[in-house]
Amino acid sequence: MGDRSRARYLSSQGIRDRRVLEGIARLSREDFVSEDTREEAAADTPLSIGHGQTISQPFVVALMTEALGIKGHERVLEIGTGSGYQTALLSLLCREVYTVEIVPELARSARARLRRLGFDNIYFRRGDGNEGWPEQAPFDAILVTAAPDEVPSTLLGQLRRGGRMVIPVGPTGGTQELLLIRRARKPGVLAQVESLLPVRFVPMTGGALRVVP
Ligand code: SAH
Repeated sequence: MGDRSRARYLSSQGIRDRRVLEGIARLSREDFVSEDTREEAAADTPLSIGHGQTISQPFVVALMTEALGIKGHERVLEIGTGSGYQTALLSLLCREVYTVEIVPELARSARARLRRLGFDNIYFRRGDGNEGWPEQAPFDAILVTAAPDEVPSTLLGQLRRGGRMVIPVGPTGGTQELLLIRRARKPGVLAQVESLLPVRFVPMTGGALRVVP
């Protein structure tokens, strides 16, 4: 599947946002996977990117991006750079992307890849996404591509009032719920939460030490 036909396919699967579909059509997913998985890059499935991590299924990437409702002027925080495919899509659709990756090799290779491909509105950080990027907060939208057990309150705090966060939440190894969280505009009111889809993401690591029984 070329990336034009991928966009047509995603449209047939219910993705409506024209900008998201155009962004997908402009990217080549092959650029984001390793030599040995290149032929499989066409399929609408997740693929291994090494270090026990995966590049997400294009349908899920499109759905998450659409749910953020970005128009073009936003500053977006992404947690879990991975291959950088989702980062590249965000880069085409908003003003600035701030992306955080905890695995040093992945952070390095995604940065090199996205620079080589000419993306120039992306800022990279190697670190624990549970902490977000306090120096650059608040963000208009936050996209998380690894699954924590619960919504990290630090991240919610870095979301602008009226902003949206899309995040898979659930237990490690199990199915998670992809949540769309709208932070309320009014002070005193917290957020509205909508469940979009059951998903399976790699767990979000880092964070506070957990006691394992
Ligand atoms: N969206 C990316 C990657 C999805 S896999 C893509 O499509 O290629 C999830 C990524 O989140 C992995 O690269 C993993 O290393 C990263 N990750 C896991 N826990 C993290 C944390 N606490 N902070 C930052 N990144 C994290």
